[in-house]
Amino acid sequence: MPADASYPTATSVEDFAGRLATVRATIADAAERVGRNPDEVRLLPVSKTVPQERLRNAIAAGCHQLGENKVQEAKRKHGELADLDVSWSVIGHLQTNKARDVAAFADEFQALDSLRVAEALDRRLQAAGRSLDVFVQVNTSGEESKYGLPPEEVVGFLRQLPRYTALRVRGLMTLAVFSADADAVRACFVRLRELRDRARDSDPGLVGPGGLSMGMSGDYALAVTEGATCVRVGQAIFGARAATRNEAHYWPTQG
Ligand SMILES: *Cc1c(COP(=O)(O)O)cnc(C)c1O
Repeated sequence: MPADASYPTATSVEDFAGRLATVRATIADAAERVGRNPDEVRLLPVSKTVPQERLRNAIAAGCHQLGENKVQEAKRKHGELADLDVSWSVIGHLQTNKARDVAAFADEFQALDSLRVAEALDRRLQAAGRSLDVFVQVNTSGEESKYGLPPEEVVGFLRQLPRYTALRVRGLMTLAVFSADADAVRACFVRLRELRDRARDSDPGLVGPGGLSMGMSGDYALAVTEGATCVRVGQAIFGARAATRNEAHYWPTQG
């Protein structure tokens, strides 16, 4: 796991272009090592805590989709940057009372883990005449502190989702265990992939296109070798945040 010092802050358009090129090259290397086409992997830059002045430069450098884990922050930035070509992906746990906001501005929600949230989102989306791409979040590490469904509940959960017609299921999402032990991290990614495969075997339509959103700054290359179709990368693009990602306040209970 790289130390925070290895994530210098990116500010200018040039900085961002360089970071994006480096991350894309790392994705391509990892994909080619296992015989995958790098084009199958979407890079989702995660812009939480980054202020709009820097985001304008990131967008100018080619970040046209941004991930945020807190609804309030995402909503504010959506407003501030409404003049630019950027779509918003909410990647953090959602409370039902924030469903209206997400339904109003987000194009993707990657942390679906309850039917209450599915129902709340669907109701708001239907009212707004919108639809939303969703990933079902799975707790592949078994850590208490992580959101997401236990793996054994995922297939049953997916079977309930077709009734929420404004939600378009795109696949599964996970956060690996935060560990320097690559085997422990890899086990989380393998678990998500096998779960996706099992869901598909039981019903080919169950997980939509069967996407796998997994991998962050410290582990995205490994995630790509294990089949990620979306990597969510913050610090390796924008620079280190104030604290490390395993601290509880990054996984807020309030969106
Ligand atoms: C912050 C965050 C990321 C990105 O983490 P980095 O260490 O900045 O790459 C990925 N996924 C989720 C859900 C996050 O909240």
